[in-house]
Amino acid sequence: MKKEISGIDFSKIESDLLFRKIPFAKDFDLSKLCSFKIGGIAPLLVEPENEETLISFLSYSKNFGIPYKVLGGGSNVLISDYPNDFITLRLGGVFKEFHEKSEGRFEIGSAINTTPTFRKISNLGYEGVEFLSTIPGWVGGAVIQNAGCYGGEIFDFIQSVDVIQNNNYTSLPVEKIKYGYRSTEFLKNKNTIITRIVMNLKQGDSKEIEFKLKEFREKRNSSQPENKKSAGSVFKNPDSIKEKDKKWKAWELIDLVGMRGAVSGDAQVSEKHCNFIVNNGNALSRDVKILIEKIEDLVFKKFNIQLEKEIEFFGSMD
Ligand SMILES: Cc1cc2nc3c(=O)[nH]c(=O)nc-3n(C[C@H](O)[C@H](O)[C@H](O)COP(=O)(O)OP(=O)(O)OC[C@H]3O[C@@H](n4cnc5c(N)ncnc54)[C@H](O)[C@@H]3O)c2cc1C
Repeated sequence: MKKEISGIDFSKIESDLLFRKIPFAKDFDLSKLCSFKIGGIAPLLVEPENEETLISFLSYSKNFGIPYKVLGGGSNVLISDYPNDFITLRLGGVFKEFHEKSEGRFEIGSAINTTPTFRKISNLGYEGVEFLSTIPGWVGGAVIQNAGCYGGEIFDFIQSVDVIQNNNYTSLPVEKIKYGYRSTEFLKNKNTIITRIVMNLKQGDSKEIEFKLKEFREKRNSSQPENKKSAGSVFKNPDSIKEKDKKWKAWELIDLVGMRGAVSGDAQVSEKHCNFIVNNGNALSRDVKILIEKIEDLVFKKFNIQLEKEIEFFGSMD
């Protein structure tokens, strides 16, 4: 494994982090931190517990030109088999806090698990966010790509987003943020770290909320591979493509090019939902990448459609 990045020795970085009191772990197996259970060993996993240590790490990384990548719940990433040319940054401490500041006004840390948080909020009687209780991962990851399902998306309910941009803390009102289907301006600007969100929610009918929680959970169980290691939908739905008034879904295109069930090593295009790739055991990131490239190629040749990935490559896939 390479032990240097950008000409800087990891042992030097370790002692600098110790000096700055920035918590970190060495030689961390990143496959343990993602839903695919794929990925290699990170030389350093830095875990700031508050704004001060986060900004201290970001200044250090900027001053010494040390690259880093932010990992949340790891449910939308394909992690490299060799994630050793950057530092992995994962928020902890205060970023895992959740407060109801006043009735219906929630302040939610970006390192909080989405599913239990929104189940709890729904169970408190607040309506609208039931769909979020079925999306895995952390709140920061949900914000960055405007996660959604069953007709809702997280930005429908966000009041403001707290971020660190260029080492400065800012609170952005939702009107100032550009977002769309499974995308936000933050996805392109990798200098933004989401730290917290504020939501204003209304009380609803508790029976209806309970019904929706159950309905969405059942829908998911019936349409997606259960108990399989995956990162959810691999491709976005190409919403601009219509043929004979039909709006194609990514899974239909994948099915039509014959990739349902296709295998590469221990990676397989799911038989149940062919926009999912599953890890049947010890798949490597390159096994998944082979399937992704084959799908892209076949769909482009048959339909002249360039599928866009929903999952992100975390580190080099070469
Ligand atoms: C079984 C399954 C079903 C899924 N169903 C859905 C669905 O219905 N709808 C949907 O939208 N998604 C779905 N997903 C995808 C995924 O759950 C969401 O995209 C989720 O919101 C990602 O959050 P995460 O914390 O896991 O992000 P990660 O996978 O950790 O990271 C994703 C990206 O966000 C960045 N990031 C993460 N946290 C931060 C932060 N605090 N600041 C800055 N950047 C950050 C990372 O650098 C990375 O680029 C599904 C995934 C699985 C495994």
